[in-house]
Amino acid sequence: MDQPFAITETIAELIEADPGGPVARQFVPDTREHEVAAEERADPIGDERFSPVKGIVHRYPDRVLLKPLLACPVYCRFCFRREVVGKKDSTLSAKELDAAFAYLAAHPEIWEVILTGGDPLALSPRRLAAILARLDAIPHVEIVRIHTRVPVVDPKRINAALLAALKIEKPVYVVIHCNHADEITAAARRGFARLADAGIPLLSQSVLLKGVNDDAKILETLFRALVRNRVKPYYLHHADLARGTSHFRTSITEGQALVGALRGRVSGLCQPTYVLDIPGGHGKVPVGPSYFEDGRVIDPHGCVHVYP
Ligand SMILES: *Cc1c(COP(=O)(O)O)cnc(C)c1O
Ligand code: SF4
Repeated sequence: MDQPFAITETIAELIEADPGGPVARQFVPDTREHEVAAEERADPIGDERFSPVKGIVHRYPDRVLLKPLLACPVYCRFCFRREVVGKKDSTLSAKELDAAFAYLAAHPEIWEVILTGGDPLALSPRRLAAILARLDAIPHVEIVRIHTRVPVVDPKRINAALLAALKIEKPVYVVIHCNHADEITAAARRGFARLADAGIPLLSQSVLLKGVNDDAKILETLFRALVRNRVKPYYLHHADLARGTSHFRTSITEGQALVGALRGRVSGLCQPTYVLDIPGGHGKVPVGPSYFEDGRVIDPHGCVHVYP
């Protein structure tokens, strides 16, 4: 389960400021990564099974992942693709990209294309613009979504050239990966603001991580900081069963207690959906607490009411 190591200036500064802190824990290699639990897998969410051509994952009818490169400016130690990112030849070749676009063009049921990786915003603006222009030209693709950690880990990349590349006819949603309020530096806030001012709807995804953000107050601070910066928390992911990451994983019961502690007390804008990507490629499902059963509904204080 070898995983490459890389760091950006922004993350190096955050680690230096708090060497044992929540940012350091996410990026500094740890000997516990050598401990592989029996339930852990090389491909925890079954990307491989649903990959009809290189660079495409087609698990749900109306949307696909397109992974133009499998490299990132920093490598998160808990990454669910930790065994495939940062290897050599990590970018799709021109021929492979053509094959991926041929697949998209041949499948009219594809309504949304999600650029992920790796980190798509680690591509040069020129290459990104070329990919987005090709997506713009496929009539049945109506929505483009980009999942990225760049606005947090390398905010200087959110510059005029990148914003120009993101400007296409179709709506482009950007989902920012952010796990702790410490990651939202002044430079990151400026990057979020540039994206929002350019009219790009911003969402976030976070991973629930032991020792990083498995605390109701820490999550509340994170989600409030995101909303305050025009980013709507979208998903809180239960940590995937990637090999060598058990020191990061909470139980789902612990996760439910954490999201339950925010419900009712914290603005609905600050409530992401707590989701599990079912191991083996069976899809993402919400795994938050259930508030209704057999005609009885539970309020955020735990009191039970009969629903007529
Ligand atoms: C997570 C994921 C998506 C996106 O799912 P949403 O619930 O729409 O955010 C799409 N395809 C694959 C293969 C995924 O893993
Ligand atoms: S940015 Fe995303 S793909 Fe890259 S290492 Fe982190 S979790 Fe993995």
